Order: sequence, then C-alpha cells, then structure tokens
Amino acid sequence: MKYTVAVRTLCEFTAKLGDLDLRFTPSATALEGMAGHAMVAARRGDAYEAEVWLKGDYRDLVVRGRADGFDPEAGRLDEVKTYRGDLAAMPQNRRALHWAQAKCYGALLCAERGLAQLKVALVYFDVTSQDETMLVEAFSADDLRTFLELQCDRFLAWAAQETAHRSARDAALASLPFPYATFRTGQRQLAESVYKAAVAGRALLAQAPTGIGKTVGTLYPQLKAMPGQKLDKLYFLAAKTPGRALALEALRTISAPHHAEPAAADALMAGAVVEAAPVLPARTPLRVIELVARDKACEHPTKACHGDSCPLAKGFYDRLPAARQAAVGATPDAAPRLDRGGLRAIALAHEVCPYYLAQELVRWADVVVGDYNYYFDLGGMLHGLAHANDWRVGVLVDEAHNLVPRAREMYSATLSRAALAGVRPRAPATVAPALRRLARVWNEITGRQLEPYAAYEDLPVGLVTALQNVNSAIGDHSAAYPADVPPELLAFYFDTLHFTRLAESFGTHSLFDLTIADDAQGDVTLCLRNLVPASFLKPRFLAARTTTLFSATLTPMHFHSDLLGLPSDVAWVDVESPFDASQLRVQVAPLSTRFAHRPASLAPIVDLMAQQYAKAPGNYLAFFSSFDYLQQVSELFRGLHPDVPVWEQARQMTEGARGDFLERFRVDGRGIGFAVLGGAFAEAVDLPGQRLIGAFIATLGLPQVNPVNEQMKARLETLFGAGHDYTYLFPGLQKVVQAAGRVIRTTTDEGVVFLIDDRFRRPEVRRLLPAWWRVEPRNHEV
Ligand code: SF4
Repeated sequence: MKYTVAVRTLCEFTAKLGDLDLRFTPSATALEGMAGHAMVAARRGDAYEAEVWLKGDYRDLVVRGRADGFDPEAGRLDEVKTYRGDLAAMPQNRRALHWAQAKCYGALLCAERGLAQLKVALVYFDVTSQDETMLVEAFSADDLRTFLELQCDRFLAWAAQETAHRSARDAALASLPFPYATFRTGQRQLAESVYKAAVAGRALLAQAPTGIGKTVGTLYPQLKAMPGQKLDKLYFLAAKTPGRALALEALRTISAPHHAEPAAADALMAGAVVEAAPVLPARTPLRVIELVARDKACEHPTKACHGDSCPLAKGFYDRLPAARQAAVGATPDAAPRLDRGGLRAIALAHEVCPYYLAQELVRWADVVVGDYNYYFDLGGMLHGLAHANDWRVGVLVDEAHNLVPRAREMYSATLSRAALAGVRPRAPATVAPALRRLARVWNEITGRQLEPYAAYEDLPVGLVTALQNVNSAIGDHSAAYPADVPPELLAFYFDTLHFTRLAESFGTHSLFDLTIADDAQGDVTLCLRNLVPASFLKPRFLAARTTTLFSATLTPMHFHSDLLGLPSDVAWVDVESPFDASQLRVQVAPLSTRFAHRPASLAPIVDLMAQQYAKAPGNYLAFFSSFDYLQQVSELFRGLHPDVPVWEQARQMTEGARGDFLERFRVDGRGIGFAVLGGAFAEAVDLPGQRLIGAFIATLGLPQVNPVNEQMKARLETLFGAGHDYTYLFPGLQKVVQAAGRVIRTTTDEGVVFLIDDRFRRPEVRRLLPAWWRVEPRNHEV
C-alpha cells in the first residue's frame, strides 16, 4: 500500500528546522493572500499556467501538491508567498522551508513534463506595496529529483510506520469488543444509533439520560465504525475539563486488553454483519491525544513563544523528530499516554514546548480530545487541519446543550471605548491618525444614541472602514517595527481584527448594539452579538463525515437544529432512561418566584426546605436563578434554622473551593448546599447514593428579562416564530433538568425534587421535563 503525502506536509516534516517562532508578525490575511496570488498570475504572460497540480511516485510514497505557477516561456516555476513588513526579517528556517517546497514542486514538474532543467523562483509579494521580490535559482532535473528523493527517503520510514499503524489500528477496531460484559439500559440503544449515523455519514442528536454510560456509549460505536468509513480521525469535543477527563478514561477502558463476551459486541450491530470478537492479547493501538489550553500547558508563562525568550522554543524543530517518535512509541504497546501529563513528560524529556508538541502530534493521532473551540471556533485548528489535509473525521460533541451559548460567544465581538482611549497616548505616530478617526466615528455613533442601550439592524456607516484603517496601520507598523508595539495596542489590535472579521459577515444571525455604562466612567461598548450561530457552524458539520451531539437535555430537537445549523437529515434519538419513576418523587410547590414576588417567596421556600429536611435529614442541593436570590433565602434559612448546616456557592470560586463545596456531600453527611442554576454545581456533578438525596429548584431558570434578551427574543421570533421559547423557556428548563439530574445517578438511588414555581403546572412546561418523571398530581402544600 502506498502512502500519499502532500508536498507541504513532506517539507514540514523533513525541512523544518530551528526555533519555534510565534512572535507576532502580521501576515497577509487570507483574502490578501488570494488577491496577491491572483495579482502575480495576472502580471505574467498569456502562456503562464497558474495553479499547476502535480503528482509523482517514489518507492512507497505518492507525493502531490499544487505549484503556484509555471512560466513555460521563461522555463520557470514560481512559488508565491504573500507577506507584510520587512522581508529581511523573515527567519532563516522559514525561507529554507519555502525553498524546499519550491524545489519539490520543481522536481515533480520536471518528471511530468520531461524537462532537463528548470528555474525555480520564490516570489515574495508585499501586500502593502504590491511589489514582488523574486529569488531565482536554476537547477538541473537531476538535482531537483535528488532533492525530492532525499526528502522522501527521510519520510519513508515514518510513512511505513504510519501505514503499519493504520492497518493495525483498523484491524483492531473492526473487531473491537465492547469493554464490558453487557450494555447498561439505554446504552445499547445509544450505541446503535451512533453507529448507524456513522455508517450513514449523518449527524445525530442523541438525548440520553445520565447514568447510562454515554461516553463509552458514543466512543465505542464511533471507533467501531472508523475502519469501514475510512475515518482518519475522531474528534471528541467537550465543553468543560471533566468531560475531557471522562473521555480519556473511557478511551483507556476501551483500548485496554479485553476478554469480553463476543455476544456483547455483536449486540451493538443488530442488522449489521459482525465478525466474531476475538480475545485481544494486547491493547488496541490507538493514539489518543488531549489538547489543553495554552495557559494550562505552558511551562514558562512569563516568557514569549520564540527562541530568544523561551528555552522550550529554542531549537524546537531540531528536537521535534525525537519527541514525535517517543510520543507514538516504538511499538503500539510501548506508546505512552498522550494526555496532559504524558505529553508534558515527553516534551520535557526532549526539551520542547508541550503545548506546541501537542499541536504537532494532532497530525499523527487517531483520537483528539479537546475543547469545542478547537473545531467550532472561527479559526478552529482541528477544522483547519482536517480541511488542509483532506481528512475524513468523525466528531462527538459532549454535553451538547452547551454548544449554542458557547458558539454565540465564539462568533461575537466587543470593543470598549476605554480600551481605545487607553492605547491612544502611547500609539506610534503612524498609527495615531487611524485611531483618531476611529474615535471620531465612535463619538458620532454614541452622540446619536439617547438611551443607555440600543440595538441596530445595520452597522453604522463608516465604522468598518475606520476599523480596517486601524488594522492596516497597526499591521504595517508592527511589521516594520515588531519590537515597538505596546502590549495594550497589540491586545486592542486582536480585538479590532476579530470585530472586523465578524463585521464582514454581518447578517440577520447577529445584531449590533451599543451600551453606555451607567457609572462614573461611562464607558461605551460596541458589540457584534451573535444570536444564531447556525450559518457559522453549518460548514463545520458538513465538513465532518459524521457528527453526534449528545446530552441529557436536548429537548426540543428543533431548538438545537435551528440554532446550530444541523444538516436537514439530522437523526434524533431519545434514549430510554434506566431509572424508574418510583426512584424520584417530583413535587411542585405552586408559589410565584417571579421577580416581583421574590420577597414574598423567601419564607415559604425556607419552610418547605426545613420541613423536608426535618422529615428526611441528609444531603440536599438548593438551586436559585441568581446569587442575590440564593443569598436572600440562605440568610433567612440560617436565621430560622441555625441547627441545619448550610454552605453556599460563591461568585468566583477556585478549583479548590469547588472541591471543598462538593466534599461536604459525604455519605454520612447532613446539610444543604446552596447553588445557582446553570452554575458549576448544576451539571457534570456526580453525587450518587446518600451523597445527595434531594434538590430544591426555585424558578424556571429563565434568563433575565433585559434589553439584550428582549432583542434576542424579537429576532428569534422573526426567524423561527418562537422568540419567547427560544430565548427564555427552553434554555431555562434545560438548566432545571440538568440541576435535577444531580439527584438520581444510579438505578439504586432514591430521592426527591421540589420544583418551586406555579408555572411548573403548565402543560408547555411539563412537556419539557424528562418523560420518566412522574410529577405528583397533588401539589405540595406550602
Ligand atoms: S513553554 Fe510557554 S512560552 Fe515557551 S513556547 Fe511553550 S507556550 Fe510559549
């Protein structure tokens, strides 16, 4: 079997040497790059061939790629690079990489066209001045062929290892047994649905209750489907760190040596051809890598990411090959874990940066576990790599009810006038006029607004032009004087770049609003606020061969489908619960927790909690819609019932403080923990058995009624005819069900949930509660 490699990948593997250098050098934007390439091609003669596809074989390798241009009259191949700033400042290793790419294309061109010699040119196009700098060298076809073969020889051993790994991986996954003797209730239904969606190349929304083993139930069938679907990678994307930890643990279990009953594995593929599951003597050869944020992985937080500052960036590419080999292991069984700790150990042993080592290793991993933003963000690395390398990927989205709010954040941008005012005094002379013009436009917009908050259908005239001028001025200045860019100016520049980029795709999915702070400073904030991320996410779903989004709270399906831009043929499964209604007493306390009635609700809520606690002492969680409400109830409770232990969630809690809060839920413990709906203790918290026997949930969890949410409601009403439900009701009830889901964790758990608000009696609200709950017909008397 031949291994196919792109010229770019080949050269990055063999010819990238020296330091890692992430010093900010403003490069040309993608649009400028395309325009620059087109400009260079347009300046050539009629015979000029732009974008020449090339391909060639060498032993077990197929090398392919697209050269930027060939001028047959001049006998010259062009490799075009767009840039901004001082060309002489380009690091030597980047120039060497450009030459390597150009020479490889030259060798492929000579072979395809039977040329005996060729001029090879690096054409550097300055996007600011539109000038070209051409570096030309003449080579014989033999010289170019020798160069390409040398690169291939350096890569062949790695390619052979990768081919062998892929074969072993796919063989093992095809006959992968389920890691346990049986499926849990509901787990098999989930796994079957995921497998069928993967085989059909579809997206799936899977609502599955807590306690059925969702992580194994989604990972296992996706892995099983990988060989048949020729998937290169599986991305497991989580909203929070605990989700990543669960996935890594599940992957360890799945790939450990197994002696499971074949029947359990066969059961998954009802209706599909299944080979007998063997007893595997060794662990499944699966390379699993964890991506963590830069601030968590960085070993030198006070340094900058280049060789003159950080020792782990110095000579990074010289030491990368050994680190890479250590990471994939000499044999599958010898491959180390590539989670945060494992990667750190390898990186430090080879004196390279762990954060950037992880990014390099994504290319050679089978499963990547990371945050949503690595795939769904505007510049999501995992999406970019899949696109550039033409990978077939499967995507799993854990706790997917978080994706709508997270994606809205990714595709929103804010700018603060205080930040603009802060950068102006120290701004370089070349940048100051553009900043002054931006300030003028900003003041004009603000001057026209009479209220503290207003939203607009369109972007104000002149704003985007003013921002583009600021971007060009700062970009040109930092290219010319990279050491003379104040940090606050650089931070402001990143904000304006992000804002401008989103402004260029402004549409009905977002609104533009301006807020004048009601304080002494009176800061003015401009915001591009995304309301419907569908148009941004849709291409990401289409780029994946299959995507499964799963969570305990995805009701109703159309809410997620509309807002996320899921494909029209998305499948839906609502997995049966393993729990019985007799395990959970759900009662409605019919009092009003509406904002105006909250003072009157405090005493009845305290009475209800005290009565329940007296009746069945143990560990409880009490959830409120805000910290203010939480504190009011908590104060009254402490005053009236000083004998009952209570503890509270605080606004900013460290990881340690969060651990202490949960520690108090001991098996033999007593007391009530006060927390907020939608907060750190309302989901992904596992307190089985006596560690938690009940929850009090005050309010429907509806987001606050404020001008921003009212704008959202109006827009969602226009787009989907469901403004109130999409803005308030569905997100609120999701929080309620997530919070209540803390009580019953296993099939032997028993507990109570009090839903404190009369609106829980309404049919439209009841429909959003889990089907297995039996809400008691006689309302609780308070
Ligand atoms: S260790 Fe930190 S400073 Fe050094 S290269 Fe890595 S991320 Fe940058």
